[in-house]
Amino acid sequence: MIDDAIRVLAGDCTVIAEGTDREEYRGRVTTIVKPDNSVLVHDTDGYQPVAWLTRADSVSSDRANDFTLVAKKGTQTLRIAAHEQDGFAHYPASTAGTPVGQCPDCGSALVRSKGVHCVGCGDRYGVPADATIREEQCNCDCGLPRMRVERGLAFDVCLDRGCESLDAAVREAFDREWDCPEPGCEGDLRILRRGGLIAGCEHYPDCDTGFAVPAGVVDGECGCGLPTFETRSGSRCLDATCEKGIAKPLEAESAADD
Ligand SMILES: [Zn+2]
Ligand SMILES: [Zn+2]
Ligand SMILES: [Zn+2]
Ligand SMILES: [Zn+2]
Repeated sequence: MIDDAIRVLAGDCTVIAEGTDREEYRGRVTTIVKPDNSVLVHDTDGYQPVAWLTRADSVSSDRANDFTLVAKKGTQTLRIAAHEQDGFAHYPASTAGTPVGQCPDCGSALVRSKGVHCVGCGDRYGVPADATIREEQCNCDCGLPRMRVERGLAFDVCLDRGCESLDAAVREAFDREWDCPEPGCEGDLRILRRGGLIAGCEHYPDCDTGFAVPAGVVDGECGCGLPTFETRSGSRCLDATCEKGIAKPLEAESAADD
């Protein structure tokens, strides 16, 4: 379910904003209380609220003193008293994002903001920031859109990690594929999740070599022996601090399975 709500109070109100000084307004206004306790009082003039308090510490209804809404933040207070209410309600609300498909569970729109969530049932899917959500015709068997994520290769996986795991796909492709570049260490790099996906030495903690797998596809090999990745900002070594540069293009790579 959608947990968040936007509260709306509309009517003929007195609005008193107190902080370093005191302002009082009266008008037929609409007050919006957002889930983060930001309170915005809108009148008909312009796009800016006539009064507001962002991320208040508390927002309460305080009918005892005839104030319908009282928002407090430190020494600031915003009180809204409705003399005549046109409406006072709260509505389920979600983050707005780019539409990316349809929810297989409830049929509502799936939108992408930070992750992907359903506007209807509130289902959420975490997606990497660099993921591209595929068109609707590329849906997974479960009905969800697929996403393309570049981690050495371009992987097309279901939005739902529980359905199809990006980690498993990357592990399948690159686990033990690269040698640990640490002199004297004979280890392989394993694909692991430590926050993000990393290629880390199997001999950890004796060897703490590890690199975040860049968002890009492998396009060659670095002078240091590690792969290079074609990323949005150009080609780079798996080791972001490496200064060796690109030694040979992908075509020359034939003995990569040694
Ligand atoms: Zn849904
Ligand atoms: Zn799926
Ligand atoms: Zn190592
Ligand atoms: Zn390198």
